[in-house]
Amino acid sequence: MHKRTFTGFTPKEILAIDASIPAKSREVWKKFAVKEFAKMEDFQEDFIRHVETTLARSLYNCDDLAAYQAASFTLRDKLIVEWNKTQQKQTLRDPKRLYYLSLEFLMGRFLDNAVINLANNETFSSAVDELGFRLEDLILQEPDAGLGNGGLGRLAACFIDSLSTGDYPGWGYGLRYQYGIFAQKIIDGYQVETPDYWLTYLNPWEIPRLEIQIPVHFGGHVYQDDAGNSIWEGDESVLATAYDYPIPGFQTTNVNNLRLWSAKPTTEFDFNKFNSGDYQNSVVDQQRAESITAVLYPNDNFDSGKQLRLKQQYFWVAASLHDIVRRFKKSRRPWREFPQQVAIQLNDTHPTIAVVELQRILIDVEQLPWVEAWGIVTATFGYTNHTVMAEALEKWPVDVFGRLLPRHLQIIYDINFYFLKEVEQKFPSDREITGRVSIIEESSPKQIRMAFLAIVGSHKVNGVAELHSELIKTTIFKDFVKVYGADKFTNVTNGVTPRRWLRQANPGLSALIASKLGGYSYLKDLSQLKRLEEFAEDKDFLHEWDAIKVKNKQRLAALIKKLTGIEVRGDVLFDIQVKRIHEYKRQQLNVFGVIHRYLTLKGLSPEARAQYAPKVVIFGGKSAPGYYMAKSIIKLVTSVGDVVNNDADIGDLLKVVFIPDYNVSKAEIIVPASDISEHISTAGTEASGTSNMKFVLNGGLIIGTVDGANVEITREIGEDNIFLFGNLAESVEDLRNNHRFGKSAIPESLALVFDAIEGGVFGHADEFRSLVDSVKWHGDHYLVSDDFDSYLEAHKLIDEAYKDHDAWVKKCVLSVANMGFFSSDRCISEYAEGIWNIEPVNDK
Ligand SMILES: *Cc1c(COP(=O)(O)O)cnc(C)c1O
Repeated sequence: MHKRTFTGFTPKEILAIDASIPAKSREVWKKFAVKEFAKMEDFQEDFIRHVETTLARSLYNCDDLAAYQAASFTLRDKLIVEWNKTQQKQTLRDPKRLYYLSLEFLMGRFLDNAVINLANNETFSSAVDELGFRLEDLILQEPDAGLGNGGLGRLAACFIDSLSTGDYPGWGYGLRYQYGIFAQKIIDGYQVETPDYWLTYLNPWEIPRLEIQIPVHFGGHVYQDDAGNSIWEGDESVLATAYDYPIPGFQTTNVNNLRLWSAKPTTEFDFNKFNSGDYQNSVVDQQRAESITAVLYPNDNFDSGKQLRLKQQYFWVAASLHDIVRRFKKSRRPWREFPQQVAIQLNDTHPTIAVVELQRILIDVEQLPWVEAWGIVTATFGYTNHTVMAEALEKWPVDVFGRLLPRHLQIIYDINFYFLKEVEQKFPSDREITGRVSIIEESSPKQIRMAFLAIVGSHKVNGVAELHSELIKTTIFKDFVKVYGADKFTNVTNGVTPRRWLRQANPGLSALIASKLGGYSYLKDLSQLKRLEEFAEDKDFLHEWDAIKVKNKQRLAALIKKLTGIEVRGDVLFDIQVKRIHEYKRQQLNVFGVIHRYLTLKGLSPEARAQYAPKVVIFGGKSAPGYYMAKSIIKLVTSVGDVVNNDADIGDLLKVVFIPDYNVSKAEIIVPASDISEHISTAGTEASGTSNMKFVLNGGLIIGTVDGANVEITREIGEDNIFLFGNLAESVEDLRNNHRFGKSAIPESLALVFDAIEGGVFGHADEFRSLVDSVKWHGDHYLVSDDFDSYLEAHKLIDEAYKDHDAWVKKCVLSVANMGFFSSDRCISEYAEGIWNIEPVNDK
């Protein structure tokens, strides 16, 4: 038989293989080729076959888990057929490809998404029904693939969805962590982390490619051979093996690939240990290899600088580049064509070593001259920056880096040397600038500034929302604008996929919209939402719209009851803040506001209370395990909930809920249920935010600061449809300067709140001491005291606006109508045109 793989053949080779296949084989192949299941019976036949053969079960012992797996395998068959066709088509056309390198892919569940993309939802659901199961139950069997922390990881997931949907030849590369983001339990009001071993059962969505084994080396030393070439000899090696996840597109047969690497021990053995009788320890060494991809680092917007993390980064980057280079070399094109065939996007600085690794391959292995190699490298990479906050900017101590990657450290020094020479020539009279832009920070210990390396190694650098992209040019990367000019720096505002974040999360609303717009094609061209404006005065339409919101709120109320035991009504205002818990995101501002509301209500007569809309305030999100302040915020929220929810005098006027273990599948229930969601970061700190987009797309209004993508959301939906408050980014520096001696001016409103906390109203005051003191005495870095009154004011406006319910619903409709811009499809087409220079591969 012919040995075949699906990628990497030249068109000529494919034709040659084709011609060499005997006619008889071809016939048999055609006859039994996997069919598409247009009909229910076809699906059912496949389903039963998978239950009885793949899973070795029967009608009599097929539980929901087995049924979930069988349903997934039937869809996967179909996916793989299309995946093959896609890869063959792309191989034949040999277009430029995009590789998206992300250390995080926060995918969530696959089944639901595959049904929407591949099958007719109703057909599929009733086929499952006839087999004796409910699709909803099967969906719940799937563990949430949580290979990411928050927005950055979810962005990568939305991007690969849009790459497939847009027919772009684009692959994702990441790590297959055995433990994803930890599961959060709330015990006595505190966050407790438990491991997320998500691979307990057979995972139908991954295709193990255990035959792919790429050796990756660490440590060792560098020497020069006789010809003067640098030779790196590592002293530790592990194997990278591939797991492929086919990624379906919507209303297209295009299926792209997400390749996740897993570390395995080499089959080579340390014979010294073995011979000395130390068998036990030689096995331990082997197990250490697997630890590289064991666990995702649970920090969001924070650089922990752990050595194992650096190992993860190089392992992943080396395997991915090996794969990319191998695919390129199959085409037998000259190296100078590499950037015409390959674009690599760095999602944050995590994959920046790829810049160095490609340069190493080109000069050390392929023996290209430095300058030519460097030209290829910089034409290939693009870098996306996600933050301006100092504590989140990645740096590696030179000695740590050099011990693990000695040759790469040399190359970094060389890159820096040539770069600084260029800078010097450009600015001969500015003797300070080389120190400021140097990739090596001359601190003690010396550190490698990964963001600077990423800029120097890329042809484009982008921020993720307009305000953020402007900020990077005027703050952290200011000197690089001088060196390279402003054109190297660009903006691509984030987006979210409307398939998962509208169709899947909110079937009711998406169906209502489809009924008005004539089908679901708007999910592929989200600008069509604009036509909803025609219905903004249509009373019946507004009524239907509102009924869907109420249902979504009841769905969330049931989840809250199940997870927390707390009863909330479905007809009150739902005020939601779900995202990673972080001081810059300011959940503390929200909970201080809640306390203020509670104290205010307590002091009012029943009649006076009527001006406040009854509401439930919902929090959710994980804190990094070592982040004390964030954990205190969670404890304060749950403690306030304990007091408020059990205060009979307050009743349904106010409830406070913390939903444990916020993740993608919980977000799909939470987001469609909001009336108001909170995106209240200190101005200038949130690069974009994406949950702000999800919430508005689902017919919720937002309260927010003038930060990140809130700015562009406001521009699109109109100032009347958003509740903005707080100081602007341009004032932040001065305001912080006012706090420089520690003590802040606390407004009276906030003083009341602090008095209550310190007076023990919500439990022992010591628990919340640092939270209060950081505002009162320690410089209030996040400007809670400066924004508090403005925040309360905005909430007052919300209470008033919510009273006029028809007007409220109309605002929601008009907002959704203008959210088309925030589709990740738009985002991907901007990257494709402006940064990657790639085009769709389809038959159009
Ligand atoms: C969208 C999303 C995020 C990002 O939320 P932000 O409010 O933009 O920080 C984080 N976690 C999950 C599970 C998400 O779906």
